[in-house]
Amino acid sequence: MTHLSGKIALITGASAPRGIGRAVAMRLARDGAMVVVTDRTGTVALDGITQERSDLLAGLVRDIEAEGGRARAMTLDVTDADNIATCIAATTGHFGPVDILVNNAGSLAGSDAFMATTPDQWQASFAVNLLGPMMLSQAVIPHMQAAGGGRIINIGSTGSLGAEPGFGAYTAMKHGAVGLAKTLAAEFGPDGILCNLVCPGYIATDMHLAANTRLAAENAVPIAEMQRRRYADVALRAAGTPQDVAGAVAYLAGPEGNYITGITLPVAGGVPCGI
Ligand code: NDP
Repeated sequence: MTHLSGKIALITGASAPRGIGRAVAMRLARDGAMVVVTDRTGTVALDGITQERSDLLAGLVRDIEAEGGRARAMTLDVTDADNIATCIAATTGHFGPVDILVNNAGSLAGSDAFMATTPDQWQASFAVNLLGPMMLSQAVIPHMQAAGGGRIINIGSTGSLGAEPGFGAYTAMKHGAVGLAKTLAAEFGPDGILCNLVCPGYIATDMHLAANTRLAAENAVPIAEMQRRRYADVALRAAGTPQDVAGAVAYLAGPEGNYITGITLPVAGGVPCGI
């Protein structure tokens, strides 16, 4: 019996084997929650091998079950309102209302030098990074209200707190995530629903590696040199791990987070957040 026993947690964007969503799912399952791990359909290239996201999710479920945890995989594209309705209805019907929603899915796609960013790229970034968490929150909040409370934990970024050049769309949307978390905290606190924003800094995932690769190419330096330059500004002088972020999510999801709502919590090793 652990402190999240009996709780249902739903995590978006959880298929990436080196991603934050997977680490959150593993951690919440270890803490006793039944976890619904979700991601969009399609394939992803990992280390030169094309893999189905559904297979990656199935592997995550197996890994959780091998540790004695409980998990189910479902398809969920956070930009698709119909898919959200189907997924939340299925989760509620099979397992019960979602107690803990972790809006983890995110995308750097379309983030570029500001003058090179097209309206379509801006819209695509909005859809994943801000509209999706809004629509999912609307889908679970009535169930949380009926159940007497819940936790919504959104994954922002140090790009929620400041800006560096070249990530305009992502930075704008992640700043919007601060307003979303605060709005939900203010509006649904009386219902016992707590909402917070966890803001990772440099976390060693494929998304972070992709950003380092792009910046290295733009600055015509090797990736190792690009990483050295970026991490030189971090007080702890290194990138963090997905497990570091998962620890913060678990804290906010559990009893130690009972009186914490509306905050933005950097998990960033002391990185300066830019302007
Ligand atoms: P990953 O790219 O490894 O994981 C993000 C996941 O979200 C992927 O599985 C991705 O799928 C999925 N996703 C993208 N679009 C959708 C969609 N429309 N519907 C459902 N899922 C989708 O990234 P990280 O683990 O690094 O990032 C997790 C979160 O942390 C994100 O919100 C990110 O912005 C945030 N973050 C990460 C930082 C880092 O340094 N790693 C720093 C700051 C914030 P696909 O691979 O197909 O795109």
